[in-house]
Amino acid sequence: MARYGLLVDYEFCTGCHTCEVACKQERNFPVGRWGIKVNEIVLETFNKIAIDYIPFPTDLCNLCAQRTKDGLQPACVKHCQANCMKYGTIEELATYMEDKPKTVLFAPR
Ligand code: SF4
Ligand code: SF4
Repeated sequence: MARYGLLVDYEFCTGCHTCEVACKQERNFPVGRWGIKVNEIVLETFNKIAIDYIPFPTDLCNLCAQRTKDGLQPACVKHCQANCMKYGTIEELATYMEDKPKTVLFAPR
């Protein structure tokens, strides 16, 4: 049976937090509980500062089991305004990663 996951192409993540909000609304999480959190990583090199935003699913992420069972995209993927999140089989997502320098793949069980 195929295993599924979430991919974030964080080269294009703007740190807008829409995925967090979409997840909370979809899963009805209370205050303080998150299915995904956007992390900000600040890199300082010489006189330059670079900021990467990398969303990380938490242990509460179930890959939107009900939505995907109904043939829908996970809420975070659907609402990502930068279109930089993908849902698919690990093999599909790994193939996408081959040509992309800044991607992370999550495969919660
Ligand atoms: S796949 Fe669903 S449960 Fe997981 S982070 Fe995205 S919206 Fe939340
Ligand atoms: S919704 Fe998309 S662009 Fe916004 S923080 Fe999440 S992954 Fe990044």
